[in-house]
Amino acid sequence: MNLPFSLYRLQTIDTQRQKITRRLTQIEAILNADEFVKAKLQQKQLAAEELAGKQSQTNKIAAETSEKRLKLELNQVQLFGGKVRNPKELQDLQAESEALKRTIQKLEDAHFQALMEQEDAQKKLAEAEQAHQSAVNAKATENSLLAGERGNLTVEMDNLNAQREALIQTLPAEIVSQYESLLKTKGGKAVSAIEDDCCEACGVELSPRDMQAVRSPNTLLRCKTCGRILYKA
Ligand SMILES: [Zn+2]
Repeated sequence: MNLPFSLYRLQTIDTQRQKITRRLTQIEAILNADEFVKAKLQQKQLAAEELAGKQSQTNKIAAETSEKRLKLELNQVQLFGGKVRNPKELQDLQAESEALKRTIQKLEDAHFQALMEQEDAQKKLAEAEQAHQSAVNAKATENSLLAGERGNLTVEMDNLNAQREALIQTLPAEIVSQYESLLKTKGGKAVSAIEDDCCEACGVELSPRDMQAVRSPNTLLRCKTCGRILYKA
């Protein structure tokens, strides 16, 4: 058995497992995040409130206009009905008639303005509704893609776990525990390959003597700088 090679294999498997674990955590977070959809929903609700406000404003002006029109009708009956003959009273009625007509004109202008604002608010609500629906749809698509990816990664992880288990069976328990503790203290990388006579993990150059020693299949050489187990392909 080539011990450094087996440990290097073990490291390769563990590196893949670490990568999958990171991605699975990431996927879980994205699946649970719905801030964007929530924000779009809130915008939709605000637009609906805005529209309701505009509608009530329009209705209020319309009601006020009806009231003034009714008053004007009564005024006209009195003014032209022939029952009121006193010139002072007739003059007052005439003044009231003119004032009411001016008020009604103002209210009609305001009503027109309010209707335009209402139409604008309606358009904004329609846009907000569409934006919210798009966000919901995009989220659903994203979630289903991520759920698929999560399924594939879980299968891959199961395979790696089985490979790891089988590989560990072939190694001395003491070596495995040495490897495991290095894995913990060295940021998930216990075994470092040698590339161009250098430790790949920390970059230090190895002495010719270490380069000789590392070729032996039965001894484990540790990097003098970072402490990782060295492996030469
Ligand atoms: Zn090193």
